Amino acid sequence: MPRLSAEKINEIRQSVDIVDVIGNYLSLQKKGRNYVSLCPFHDDSHPSMSISPERQIYMCFVCHNGGNVFTFLKNYLKIPYIEAVKMVASMGNIDISEYNLEKRVQPVEQKFEPLYKMHDEANKIYNHYLNTKLAIDAKEYLTKRKITDEIIDMFEIGYAPSNNILLKAFEKMNFNKVSMYESGLVIESNAGYDRFSNRIMFPLHDANGRVVGFSGRIYQPSQNESKYMNSPESDIFIKGETLYNYHRVIEETRQAGFVIITEGFMDVIALYKAGIKNAVAIMGTALTKGHVSLLKRLSKTVYLCLDGDKAGKNATIKSIDILLHEGFTIKVVDLPENLDPDEFLDKKGGDELESLIKSPLSSLDFKMNYYYEMTNMDNYDDRKKYLETIAKEISNLSDIIDQDYYIQQLEKKSGFSKETITRLVSDKNVSKIEQVNPSNYIPYQKSIRLIDKYVRAERDLLYYMMNDKNVAMMYEAKAGFMFNDTYRIIASYIVDYYRQEVVLEVADLISSIEDENLVKNIVEISQLELPELQDSKAIEDYIEIIKEKTVRIKVEELTKALKDTFDPKQKAQILKEIIALKDKE
Ligand SMILES: [Zn+2]
Repeated sequence: MPRLSAEKINEIRQSVDIVDVIGNYLSLQKKGRNYVSLCPFHDDSHPSMSISPERQIYMCFVCHNGGNVFTFLKNYLKIPYIEAVKMVASMGNIDISEYNLEKRVQPVEQKFEPLYKMHDEANKIYNHYLNTKLAIDAKEYLTKRKITDEIIDMFEIGYAPSNNILLKAFEKMNFNKVSMYESGLVIESNAGYDRFSNRIMFPLHDANGRVVGFSGRIYQPSQNESKYMNSPESDIFIKGETLYNYHRVIEETRQAGFVIITEGFMDVIALYKAGIKNAVAIMGTALTKGHVSLLKRLSKTVYLCLDGDKAGKNATIKSIDILLHEGFTIKVVDLPENLDPDEFLDKKGGDELESLIKSPLSSLDFKMNYYYEMTNMDNYDDRKKYLETIAKEISNLSDIIDQDYYIQQLEKKSGFSKETITRLVSDKNVSKIEQVNPSNYIPYQKSIRLIDKYVRAERDLLYYMMNDKNVAMMYEAKAGFMFNDTYRIIASYIVDYYRQEVVLEVADLISSIEDENLVKNIVEISQLELPELQDSKAIEDYIEIIKEKTVRIKVEELTKALKDTFDPKQKAQILKEIIALKDKE
């Protein structure tokens, strides 16, 4: 049975009108071109939800819940996405009985065998090339980053040269073109070409230790591309079901009694350098159900060691809630100064990293600090909200001594009396207090600051990309990169979308995206009302602004490299590059 294709899902979506469907559940009023309604996703007293018949999407201007007809049913009825698709199909009288609606099937199917073979072969080829003349600079970079031969062997690090080496090898081995493209290792074009070229290669394995994808890193300051490039998802590589290093840590985790979760594979390698061998990485996605079931097989105790920046902290809060719900014991390694583990190791050394991991915070301590930093304690309402949020968490603790400890902590932080806190914690109604969603939590200082010029440029550019294929093509050709993680992913979805289509329907674009945060952002950006483009000059300006930031970051990197270099010849070379870059600014 075939799986539901994106086309079929769009056909299902188009078989109904979102206004009719939402109208079945909420009372709608016409307002201009749109309909409005009280929002069911937050405590709404004025109609804050807007439904666009033209675009077939909805959005709440207060809580930012938004999406297409599937998103609405999924959120409103609290059903899985696929159930929402089934419901709409039956409303629109579309027969889907011949489709396989199960989640991806796990057992190795015969037809995936070529994909595994190609990845295995690619890994061998990349490993081989790291020891050739072509990779002298790459090898030097690794040495500079203190990545020793032992680490190279351990993590099977390799090098992708720039002469379509895989394409040639696969042709010799008689793989067909379709399989090559499906593997993601070769990109489709008239002749086809290797996805990875002139990059240091890190293989990604599945739970059984088979290579299913790669991440390639640039290593020269002059390389004007995104720092990391990952394999696209394929039949054998599903990001939400892949934990980097999983197959190597089973024994180490059993001995240590816990597993450490980091964001990226460089963090796993950094911890390894510091002698800590029980770490895995979620490869830049949010923690998924797939990750959780892998983790369950490893250990019931998890140390979250995500990046120390705002995004990392938000992700930590979300991961805590998911893992607590699944019965894990959680500790948090709270990295200071916005650092990730790799940067921390670089700055402070292995001993400090080890001692940080040996003294993790409890998940509640982390939450208390996190929300405290984000709350304006001079504002009574905000302070009260903080009190309620943490009191609810304390009421969930089963240990009375723990409860007492945290009540004291909360007294110090919130300024409310111990009596008030104790009463609130034991109040039955405390469980009804609404959980604060970190991504909806607007930090106190940030809300009054203007949004960063670079972030704005990226956001606006996305808006124009959604409205005009030419802009998306220009972006791909001239920039191909955004700094904001969310925006970068959205941009790649848009570019991908235009490979098949000429006009972008926001409602269709989000059909294929499961991540709620991405959907929310896409809907929000699509609702911006930016002036119509007169010519391509405005777009060129946006791309210039993004590039300007690239240059700035590169100058920073080079300046750092300059400090670390002792060879006068190299120093001169780096200096030359800096000057050349500064001229461009
Ligand atoms: Zn709302």
